[in-house]
Amino acid sequence: MLNNMNFYSFMHRQILIVIALFVSTGFGYVYMGWFYSSLRYELLWFFLLLLLSLWGYRLYKIYKNNNLNMQEKEKWLNHLRYFLFIYFSMWTIMFFLYILHPAIELHYIAIATQLGVAVVSATILVSQRKLAIATLISLMLPLVIYFILLDEFYSYLLSFFTIVLGGVLLYASSNTFNYLVKSQYQAYHDYLTSLGNRRYLIELLENSIRLQKQNKKFPYLLLIDLDHFKTINDTLGHDIGDELLCEVANRMKELSKRHYNHVSRLGGDEFCILSSPYDTKEESLEHAMRFAQELLRIIKKSYTIKEHHLYISASVGISIINSPDMQAGTFIKEADIAMYEAKTQGRDGIILFNDDLSKKVEYKLEIERLLHFALEHNEISLKYQTQVNEKNEIIGCEVLARWHNEKLGNVPPDEFIGIAEQTGLIIELGYYILKEAFQTLKSWDEKGIYLQQMSINISMRQMFHSSFINDVRKLSAQYLNDNLTSKIVFEITETSVAEDVELLIRNMNMLKTLGIRFSMDDFGTGYSSLSYLRKLPINELKIDKSFIFELENSEQGKTMIKTIVNIAKNLNLNIVSEGVEKSSQQKFLIEERCDILQGFYFSHPMDKEAFEKLLLH
Ligand code: C2E
Ligand code: CA
Ligand code: CA
Repeated sequence: MLNNMNFYSFMHRQILIVIALFVSTGFGYVYMGWFYSSLRYELLWFFLLLLLSLWGYRLYKIYKNNNLNMQEKEKWLNHLRYFLFIYFSMWTIMFFLYILHPAIELHYIAIATQLGVAVVSATILVSQRKLAIATLISLMLPLVIYFILLDEFYSYLLSFFTIVLGGVLLYASSNTFNYLVKSQYQAYHDYLTSLGNRRYLIELLENSIRLQKQNKKFPYLLLIDLDHFKTINDTLGHDIGDELLCEVANRMKELSKRHYNHVSRLGGDEFCILSSPYDTKEESLEHAMRFAQELLRIIKKSYTIKEHHLYISASVGISIINSPDMQAGTFIKEADIAMYEAKTQGRDGIILFNDDLSKKVEYKLEIERLLHFALEHNEISLKYQTQVNEKNEIIGCEVLARWHNEKLGNVPPDEFIGIAEQTGLIIELGYYILKEAFQTLKSWDEKGIYLQQMSINISMRQMFHSSFINDVRKLSAQYLNDNLTSKIVFEITETSVAEDVELLIRNMNMLKTLGIRFSMDDFGTGYSSLSYLRKLPINELKIDKSFIFELENSEQGKTMIKTIVNIAKNLNLNIVSEGVEKSSQQKFLIEERCDILQGFYFSHPMDKEAFEKLLLH
């Protein structure tokens, strides 16, 4: 079947074409009548044609001006069918009038017109198979009978030809129809899963929104994104990935069918489900929640694809269609924002869109926008936090970035670094931080401040960037000598290590040849700890502050740190503890043979000048 919404508008566009065609050619009959002095029949006929045209025009207007709901559309289409059949039959009336006329020229005209109208009906009514057949028969049957009644040898042949022509027209018309259906189908469906595609969803959604104007009902929209689908694609290949997508799609379709919901695939591993309408927002929300939970449950059931047993979860965002004045794209965006939030909250979850989320997104966009100018406007500065040994001597520092913006105030690095990573701005920003830090180290050296190490946070995005190694090489040649370069420690986080380990190791080794050392930051918070720890050429392990905070709360916290220290000692790594805020923590960590301590207990991050003062006095 043709996509419903399109199909109606297709039909409605045909009305004007038929009217224009019929009124203009119908006028030809009036002209003939004037010529053959039987004008009153033609005039009467033409008048009738005009009346019918008005009916058709009204049908056209009704469709165009009112947002009809499905039922009304069905009714409208029925009227349209009657109209078209009667309209086409007008020519048969004229046909009978003319073939009964003694003037043989009129017979020719009647025959030619009838054939012409038959061709027109076959094209115009292409999407209405039954109507097309009925109309064609009603137009061609009189012709066939007429030829037979002539009872001449050639007229039998003519009636045969007419029947053949009728058959050909029917065949052509149904062929065109099938093609139309197929191309419509392709335009509105996803090739892989045969679910509706984005276009399909948007039209469906627009229709729902339009309906809401009249019936004040509330459908919901779910946006579903599979978790870590890329990993499956990357590790098992796209064939397996595709099959998994189809299987997930089938499960969604199955469940949705029972709830009268529509599923479409937006692309990749992203799906959208539009529900049937509910009477109140609350009811809609309740159903959305229940449906989403059920959906997650069935998605998480295991899959068997070509001897692989696979598991996958999904993150779901919900948006309730609650305003007829908003556009389809807005609701999709809302659901997308909610879905994204579900991802950041650890995936495998359901989040309902709300205004706070939208503010959060706006704030993020604002950060993104202003961050672009931060370097240019000199808004980025560096702070240095001391690192001390067990004797409380300052042996190093960690470089921490700060951003002060006129409009946003102080934006914490936890907020802007992530965004800089996402937008790629981290490359430029990271370069600036490196340069500043190197310059600082150099100036301290000149002032007689000697440190064992200076730790600089390096994002994975930088580590994988093609120009990074050259940049480091260039900057160290410009500001540092070999001795100073060997004091640089790059802190990388294990959470993001997973990407391309071989490449990472290669890059790390190249930097090592310069004398740079590596520290595994936030250790214990990521996933891939141990196996990577062994593979990567790191020198230092930095216990995440969350473990230090846990120390007082439980025995388990202590065991945790003991374990981490053991691992590090076994792998011959230096241990740094960050987030030390109390003397009790310091005492415990020193007892546990932790090499370096860092935290507010010793000092907050401070600017270059303050750091100098602290060390010189
Ligand atoms: P991080 O690398 O784990 O940095 C340590 C964070 O802990 C810093 O927060 C520091 O101020 C804070 N901290 C230090 N001692 C204590 C303490 O005793 N108690 C508490 N509660 N916190 C303490 P900050 O400066 O806000 O940085 C947050 C994160 O932003 C950093 O975490 C790091 O991941 C990122 N970051 C900061 N500067 C840079 C940078 O220059 N480059 C990159 N790529 N990331 C950076
Ligand atoms: Ca760090
Ligand atoms: Ca850390």
